[in-house]
Amino acid sequence: MFYMAILEALAPTAEGRKRIALKSPATLEPVGEIVCADAQDVADAIARAKKAQREWAARPVKERAAIVERAIEVLKRRQEEVIATIRAETGKTRPEVLAIELVASYDFLNYWSGRAPKDLADEKRPLHGYLKPLKKLIVHYKPLGVVGVITPWNGPFALAMNSTVQALLAGNAVILKPSEVTPHSSAWAVKILQEAGVPEDVVQVLYGDGETGAALVRGGVNKIAFTGSVPTGKKIAAACAEQLVPCTLELGGKDAMIVCADANLERAANAAVFLSMFNSGHVCMGTERIYVVEEIADEFIRKVEEKTRAVRFGRGDEVDVGAIFWDRQLTIIEKHLEDAVNKGATLRVGGRAHRDGGIFFEPTLVTDVNHDMSLMNEETFGPIVAIQRVRDEEHAIELANDCKYGLSASVFTSDPKKAVAIAKRLEAGSVCINDGEVIYGVLEAPFGGVKESGLGRVNGTDALRSFCHAQPILLDRWNLDRESIWYPFGPDTLKALEGTIKYIFWTPIRKLMR
Ligand code: NAD
Repeated sequence: MFYMAILEALAPTAEGRKRIALKSPATLEPVGEIVCADAQDVADAIARAKKAQREWAARPVKERAAIVERAIEVLKRRQEEVIATIRAETGKTRPEVLAIELVASYDFLNYWSGRAPKDLADEKRPLHGYLKPLKKLIVHYKPLGVVGVITPWNGPFALAMNSTVQALLAGNAVILKPSEVTPHSSAWAVKILQEAGVPEDVVQVLYGDGETGAALVRGGVNKIAFTGSVPTGKKIAAACAEQLVPCTLELGGKDAMIVCADANLERAANAAVFLSMFNSGHVCMGTERIYVVEEIADEFIRKVEEKTRAVRFGRGDEVDVGAIFWDRQLTIIEKHLEDAVNKGATLRVGGRAHRDGGIFFEPTLVTDVNHDMSLMNEETFGPIVAIQRVRDEEHAIELANDCKYGLSASVFTSDPKKAVAIAKRLEAGSVCINDGEVIYGVLEAPFGGVKESGLGRVNGTDALRSFCHAQPILLDRWNLDRESIWYPFGPDTLKALEGTIKYIFWTPIRKLMR
């Protein structure tokens, strides 16, 4: 077990459970410790959750929604404590905590509790064709049971809140396994929901590292909602496949930004800096690769350079970019940058790590990058703007698609028609025009990755309903003694079947039967 500077393995507990001490990446001061739940703790938690879930599921959705909505008031009361915990564990700036964690979480609580009674109500679906006079269909959204929510360290409160709230509203019990780097920030989501009235066994938190996560995945839950890296996502997908347990996987990205010649260059340059560095660059759909067309490249790079130089970094309230949340990531950032520079990239601004009393990386701009560099083909997750010049928009699309990831992307142009046409050609789960990142906060949008960036959707009605089994219940309209095609087969059976084919599917009536 080797956790590096901000995580330290302590001597195990008397019962043999692992213990981890945490330090703030901004100050390296201690910020508590966790005892890792072992396989037995996981089994016990799941057993409690299974029992409690029955009563929770039996409540009307409206009642569950009212409880979840009350969490808004609890969060309002607890807001400063939540902010303090997140800042201590991550070293994020206050505006980042407010934007990515608080505003987002209020919106999740408000939006999903408002939508759930409508989106999860039994749904009468009109039938088509020859079935219409005979049958009625109801689709019932039936809770799955116990959902394991496993979250990363970059948006520890909001990412825990989003899946947990959706799963609870859908009538499930939730066991949250937060990242070992930010356990207490994520645990606030559970505490707040419990204080709002969700029963303790219906929403639980289990601290621990990957071993605890793996035990949860194999512990007999009914779904895993995972947000994290591609390698872990693949392990979880394999374990879920063996058990035929559904999972959603929201994984890493390498999002491309395309800057066209007709873009508002001031906006594109501001976006390039912000979208590459927001949250210290630790955003799954952060901009990691920028393709700018040759025609305007000099002017664009000049503007980006000026703006990158103006970005303040460090600890405290007078900065734009805070700490690097985990030294494991710092090593990756340094490695990618070194590889790029060794292969010919031009380092224009920043480029150095700082480890004096905290973990920081200078806001950085590199140009003359290409796809042979890990900076352009692996997730870097740091405050680096990386710009590659391209011949034209076709070249930009080709390079944007030359990537194993496909989470999100952005296109900067003043021509909305062209923007949409380019967006449709991008191999990306979502595309923002003249913006980026905000897409995760657009709760109507079915956010999720393609290629190695994941499986399933975390937002949109489909996401909420994915915490249920959509159970079709078919009702008979007439209560006849037998259907016309049931035993015994006879001339009437053939007449009914052949008549259906002849008079419906072989005639224009067919088109009315849709
Ligand atoms: P990670 O995969 O290392 O860890 C994520 C979580 O999984 C942690 O809680 C960890 O303890 C747990 N875990 C580790 N091994 C496990 C195993 N074998 N079985 C079960 N659980 C296990 O990821 P990370 O470094 O914490 O997070 C950063 C990654 O998350 C980045 O790649 C980022 O892009 C991605 N991310 C994606 C989204 C999205 O919506 N697509 C959002 C945020 C972050």
